[in-house]
Amino acid sequence: MVCQQSADNEIDLCSRCLADMPALEDTCAVCGIALTANASTCGRCLKKTPYYDKIITLYPYRGLAKFLIHALKFNNQHCCARIMGTLMARHFNKPEHQPNAILSVPLHPKRLSQRGFNQAELISHYVHKKLNVPLVETYLHRVINTHDQASLSAAKRRQNIRNAFCYTGKTAPYFVAVIDDVVTTGSTANEVARTLKKAGVKRVEIWAFARA
Ligand SMILES: [Zn+2]
Ligand SMILES: [Zn+2]
Repeated sequence: MVCQQSADNEIDLCSRCLADMPALEDTCAVCGIALTANASTCGRCLKKTPYYDKIITLYPYRGLAKFLIHALKFNNQHCCARIMGTLMARHFNKPEHQPNAILSVPLHPKRLSQRGFNQAELISHYVHKKLNVPLVETYLHRVINTHDQASLSAAKRRQNIRNAFCYTGKTAPYFVAVIDDVVTTGSTANEVARTLKKAGVKRVEIWAFARA
């Protein structure tokens, strides 16, 4: 996918390129942000406990990880979803800690028709298949077409995303893993988790490929 050398055919990356994407380490046990001080939980999570139980991401949002996300989202390189989904499934393949259901962060129908696909949903299919956990994409909908979060401050993002999601599942699985490509401030993750918990889900983990 990157250097044209022969590759692990499941993920289309050679071992050298894969080694070029070092895993995220020393992160907050709750929100997954990189920590510099010798602490297990960041100050923000200590001050206000988020609705989600945990955000777990594999890589910092730069270098090859960022390249793969951009190639999928903006250049329609759907093979990148398989690379990301497979790497995520390998990371989350812990039989003692499996969710009851998987879903992805939904796009608003308008945004979906503009882009033609939901990158998080494409990734979630690979995670679902490899882990053999039911996919319940139809349970969660984005009912407000929010402004692009990227240009907003953290406070504005929280305000912008409020009530953006709607849960329509008839039942609430106990533990749901929500798949996304990249987590930035965590405000979308928090609003998704708030919606799921309100619907009766007990444990919500956000599983993303990269953390900004
Ligand atoms: Zn390579
Ligand atoms: Zn934190």
